[in-house]
Amino acid sequence: MHYQPKKDLLQNRIILVTGASDGIGREAALTYARYGASVVLLGRNEDKLRSVADEITEISGTPPHWYILDLLSCTQELCRELAQHIARDYPRLDGVLHNAGLLGEVRPMDEQNAEIWQQVMQVNINGTFFLTQALLPLLLKSDSGSLVFTSSSVGRQGRANWGAYAVSKFATEGMMQVLAEEYQSRHLRVNCINPGGTRTKMRASAFPSEDPQKLKTPADIMPLYLWLMGDDSRRKTGMTFDAQPGRKPGISQ
Ligand code: NDP
Repeated sequence: MHYQPKKDLLQNRIILVTGASDGIGREAALTYARYGASVVLLGRNEDKLRSVADEITEISGTPPHWYILDLLSCTQELCRELAQHIARDYPRLDGVLHNAGLLGEVRPMDEQNAEIWQQVMQVNINGTFFLTQALLPLLLKSDSGSLVFTSSSVGRQGRANWGAYAVSKFATEGMMQVLAEEYQSRHLRVNCINPGGTRTKMRASAFPSEDPQKLKTPADIMPLYLWLMGDDSRRKTGMTFDAQPGRKPGISQ
């Protein structure tokens, strides 16, 4: 995506990022801070979140709040409690990036392990839904909220061996579409990003034989992540955007 954001694109915007401890989420949190946002970090690993928070403090001069939430064990109640904590620290949320995700097993449907299947659904769908439900009141306090889910090319076109992950990403697209329609008249836009093959740990475990140097880095795909959180995307809702338009899904040759 060719997009040249203004340096103060996200000034006065409060943006929460899940899975902010690593990979694309970490980069998104740092990038949002560079463009002026107050960033709220969510993750399951305290040490990793602290280190991202330190980097953000260097960028913005203000330490961000971070909160621990393990999507694998979270319940509706835990997400509500977390939202209450956040509401004590922040007046509203202008953006939420649901980025945390679990790959599970890349193997045929008849070999998918039931326990791992459930874990993928819990992290990618159920936990993400509970958190969304809990954060909606804070998002609705913004005069232009942006709720962004993270999808995948296998969430639009099924592919052999992608099992629970593909099914969960189809469900992510569905959740986005339902919410987009429900909130279309209420200053809240809801969209999906498909990052496309990106150089992260998850990608390396999905494609161990792939040369990571042939992949875009998380920093390379940030223009779309910025555009969706800023005012330039204000009228867009119910859509899925490719961070790497034109990239063919699958292994990079
Ligand atoms: P990484 O594995 O590098 O990062 C995943 C992030 O999610 C980490 O911060 C991780 O935390 C967090 N996370 C995982 N499980 C949980 C959990 N139970 N509770 C809370 N946080 C959790 O993955 P990517 O950066 O590659 O992926 C980011 C998103 O992009 C995912 O939704 C993925 O499906 C999607 N995507 C990625 C593509 C790629 O090529 N990289 C392509 C298409 C989609 P921790 O640091 O503790 O492990």
